[in-house]
Amino acid sequence: MARQKLTAVRGVKDILPEEARRWSEAERVAREIFARYGYGEIRVPAFERTELFSRGIGEGTDIVTKEMYTFEDKGGDSITLRPEATASICRAYVQNSLYAQAGVAKLFCTGPMFRYERPQAGRYRQFHQIDAEALGTDDPALDAEVIFMLMEFLEAVGLSGLSLQLNNIGDAECRPVYAAALLEFLREETAGMGTGGMDESLAERIERNPLRFLDSKDPAHAGIISRAPTIDQFWNERCRRHLDTLCRHLDRGGVHYERNPALVRGLDYYCLTVFEVTSENLGAQNAVCGGGRYDGLVEELGGPPTPAIGFAIGMERLLQLTEKAGAGPGGEPGDQPIEVFIVALGESAEAESLTLASELRGRGLRVDRTFGGGSMKSQMKRADRSGARYVIVLGEDEISGGVVSLREMAESRQESFERAGIGDYLCARLRPSP
Ligand code: AMP
Repeated sequence: MARQKLTAVRGVKDILPEEARRWSEAERVAREIFARYGYGEIRVPAFERTELFSRGIGEGTDIVTKEMYTFEDKGGDSITLRPEATASICRAYVQNSLYAQAGVAKLFCTGPMFRYERPQAGRYRQFHQIDAEALGTDDPALDAEVIFMLMEFLEAVGLSGLSLQLNNIGDAECRPVYAAALLEFLREETAGMGTGGMDESLAERIERNPLRFLDSKDPAHAGIISRAPTIDQFWNERCRRHLDTLCRHLDRGGVHYERNPALVRGLDYYCLTVFEVTSENLGAQNAVCGGGRYDGLVEELGGPPTPAIGFAIGMERLLQLTEKAGAGPGGEPGDQPIEVFIVALGESAEAESLTLASELRGRGLRVDRTFGGGSMKSQMKRADRSGARYVIVLGEDEISGGVVSLREMAESRQESFERAGIGDYLCARLRPSP
């Protein structure tokens, strides 16, 4: 009886070579653009002490209460697979005293994140982010620069039709006043709805963090959200000025945005500027990037007061969009196809094909070959499928004559070449010097 097939766990997926190529290309574009803005790469661990996230992201958030992959390791420590990168980057910033360096610390990171969410189109339990963080100033010019960089990147990978939603969610002074007013409003609305619309856990959630209600995608909540007080009615002078200055910078930079006083984010550490980039081509999970300021987080994690701002782009959604746009960052799928394919008939030819492949690869060519022998016909079929422009045929006659047979597939013509000169010939054809 056939063994049962094992499959990946729910909510995770394999990234196969064609897609992986587009991922790498998107990451390459990010590296290139981020470097121009002075960002250096940081690689933080995939798991951390649970406390980092509960303290950093906030005890009352959905991520911390419901979505973390948390387990006790064999030493009895509570460990969590990272649900996001900002807290880890701030921990690393404090632990490695990166604040001791002059100026703004600009860091980016890429990699998998883990959240136990309900899987659906565009929402996974392991997903990937490109994350950029700038630490060291509360100057709105930094907010603007971060947004310029983000939009430049999204444009460079071929996305269009995006909407940049912008808000200021207040600071430690005015946000609590707003949260209290919102809570009051939501309590009344809840009472008004009786037990009909709101279940107990929602009521609990409102008490815990009323701002999160504004993020609800439930159509039954839309009416309440549209009537709810918004933060702009509560901004203090500093918050109002911060947003106005940022908007002026964005206007001057030609970046389009929409001021959305109802925009809140799911993590507690945000203050002042928050933003989200959405696309109408994504369906229900329409955010391709989220970000904002988190001026208190570094201090919360034991570092010196360090205002900071950052964003995270969801790779799966980004790639879904480039696929729809038919663009694909930097080229079509298969933009690195095999150039030379080696067909070998007989034992000594097989051995020689290994040597020849290494030699050609050593000269920078993309080379593949058949494995496991087979007839000339079946090997040529594989050669054809590889898409290679040139096929080298090695048989006993070629080996003894010190030659190779070379076929240019488009021309279906075969010629004999000196074995010693084939590398030079192929390089001249495939890598002509300008
Ligand atoms: P956040 O860290 O929640 O601000 O999310 C930033 C971005 O990561 C979002 O805009 C999405 O593009 C992406 N993202 C967040 N959660 C998921 C998920 N479960 N699956 C796929 N992408 C996600």
